[in-house]
Amino acid sequence: MSHTPSSVLRTRPTHTVEDYLMTMQAMERDHGEIIAARLAEMLNVSPATVAMTLKRMERDNWITGTGRKAVQLTETGRAAAHSVIRRHMLTEWLLVSVLKVPLSETHNEAHNIEHAISPQVEERMREILGNPQTCPHGNPFPGCEQVTSQWTPLTELPMGAAVTIRRIHEFAEDNSELLKFLVENGIVPGAQITLMDILHFNQTLTVMVASESVTLGFSSARFIFAEKSEKNQLS
Ligand SMILES: [Zn+2]
Ligand SMILES: [Zn+2]
Repeated sequence: MSHTPSSVLRTRPTHTVEDYLMTMQAMERDHGEIIAARLAEMLNVSPATVAMTLKRMERDNWITGTGRKAVQLTETGRAAAHSVIRRHMLTEWLLVSVLKVPLSETHNEAHNIEHAISPQVEERMREILGNPQTCPHGNPFPGCEQVTSQWTPLTELPMGAAVTIRRIHEFAEDNSELLKFLVENGIVPGAQITLMDILHFNQTLTVMVASESVTLGFSSARFIFAEKSEKNQLS
């Protein structure tokens, strides 16, 4: 990356723009493009608000392509996105490991803190927290995407699969009701589960976690990723 931390800091975006950049980076990472119309739904704001913010973001050189179906991050925009994502994820770890804030609350709490962290404090956090490669929900730090590449969405697993939950995707993290439900039912990174039932007509699947059964809709389950447990694998 050709950007020095000082050039990013000098032009640090507003909180709103930083939150847009985070969501855009995840869309670009997963789908290769940033569909403007989906941002309103993802960020839970009106399409008119998105349109206005995108215009400002293009004026300030974070993105290009406003008014077209897909927008692009500029090099500066992508560097700024990576910076705020790192701060967000390190803040989540600080909240979970040091302050013992429940996993269901760390995402929203982190949004209140992440925007104010200097590069010096970010560096210190990284050292103290042991240079993590994913956030506590299992989402990869920018540049660590290969860590998550072997994990499979629950919707793509066969009936009877015994797996370990590894990741609750950013798009599920952003839904605080869903995140609370998952945490309360023990569907968190590290949990061992077995896939009991898949009802295609109903768009639901049921998993056993700690001898309790939990039913999830496909629309949520596709954002939960698991790793096949080596020893329990069905052949
Ligand atoms: Zn935020
Ligand atoms: Zn997270």
